[in-house]
Amino acid sequence: MPFSSERYRISSLWAEFADPAVEKAFLTHMQPMWARNLRVAVFVWAGLLLAFGLLDLQALGWSRDFFILAACRIVQSALLFGFAWVLPRRPHLAASGYAVTALEIIGFFLFMPIYFLRPDIATLTIVVLGVMVLTMMLFVPNRLKLNMVAATVAVILALTCIALKGRGAEIVIGAAIFLSLPVATGFFGTQQLAKVQRQQFAMFNEARAANRELRKEMERRKLLEEELKRQATTDPLTGLFNRRQYEMLFRRERERCRRQGTGICVAMADLDHFKALNDEFGHDAGDAALRHVAGLFTAKLREGDVVGRFGGEEFIILLPDTDAPEAERVIERLRGALEANPVMIEGQPRTLTATFSVSAVRAGERDIVDTLRRVDAGLYQGKHAGRNQVIAV
Ligand code: GH3
Ligand code: MG
Ligand code: MG
Repeated sequence: MPFSSERYRISSLWAEFADPAVEKAFLTHMQPMWARNLRVAVFVWAGLLLAFGLLDLQALGWSRDFFILAACRIVQSALLFGFAWVLPRRPHLAASGYAVTALEIIGFFLFMPIYFLRPDIATLTIVVLGVMVLTMMLFVPNRLKLNMVAATVAVILALTCIALKGRGAEIVIGAAIFLSLPVATGFFGTQQLAKVQRQQFAMFNEARAANRELRKEMERRKLLEEELKRQATTDPLTGLFNRRQYEMLFRRERERCRRQGTGICVAMADLDHFKALNDEFGHDAGDAALRHVAGLFTAKLREGDVVGRFGGEEFIILLPDTDAPEAERVIERLRGALEANPVMIEGQPRTLTATFSVSAVRAGERDIVDTLRRVDAGLYQGKHAGRNQVIAV
């Protein structure tokens, strides 16, 4: 077997999947095609049945025997046309095979009167029955097991009719040997076909499963990659950009603003008396306060602004496409927002304030550290001047 899994094992005799669930899936998969092919086969079958009625008329004329045979042909054709009408509405009938097997068996019974009513072609009738069995097995889509049921009924029926007609045992045995030929050919032919169809189905399914696994793995890797990237660029406590990332963003934004002829400003914020808050409420409350500040800054600034954590309780804010007076206004608004939005600690609102320093980046300053040296001095100045204020430098 070319397949890795036991799941797709095909039984060697009846050429069906050993696993009933897989066999069911296979039949469901084949159902639309089988329903279409079966419909065509049924129309051809009914057409031939009616056409051969002309031969009866030729041989028997408008006799009683002709009408008996014609009635058999018409009943069978009506059943076939009815089945062809139902099939598109109930395509599962094609996959299960029971309905078509029943039609075949009824067909053999309705065919056998010819053997008695037309003794002139008795031998030919048995030969035609053999051809019918073979044609049925090869061209009418059905499960091999059910095909064999119909074929066996046909052979037993034929042999019974021959015996009923009073022929000798050797004729019955001869007919049995003759009829075993189309049955065996039909059996091995359909067995091969059934196996190939199921192998194709298994290959198709395995390829699809492998594809699905691959896609899942790709998605997993993409998520992992995003997570690693996030971890590499952000501060784990606040989710703000870490130093490496805002330094990189600074270089990129500074270059873009230079090309576009717009200004870019840098601000720094240091929370006031943060040590006291930590000392009073504990480190976890301090962490919660830092997250509160990070969320507030991010929410209050523009999409294109960058908020980073410099370290401890100090934050960096980049304001691209902004000149100094505008930056001062923005940072002053941010200071007011922090003061106006207390953090909840132990169920009580606690007002946080910070001292800010802001400056426009100057022409000679290539790296953020050059600007930060000046901004840091402004911060120091603000702390000394009483905190909770913005110093423009
Ligand atoms: P000032 O107004 O002069 O800035 O006073 P301050 O208390 O904020 O200044 P200082 O730099 O002396 O204290 C900063 C404190 O911030 C020290 C430390 O307890 C706290 N801190 C630094 N990083 C973290 C952190 O990640 N989590 C918590 N909870 N506290 C931190
Ligand atoms: Mg500090
Ligand atoms: Mg501080």
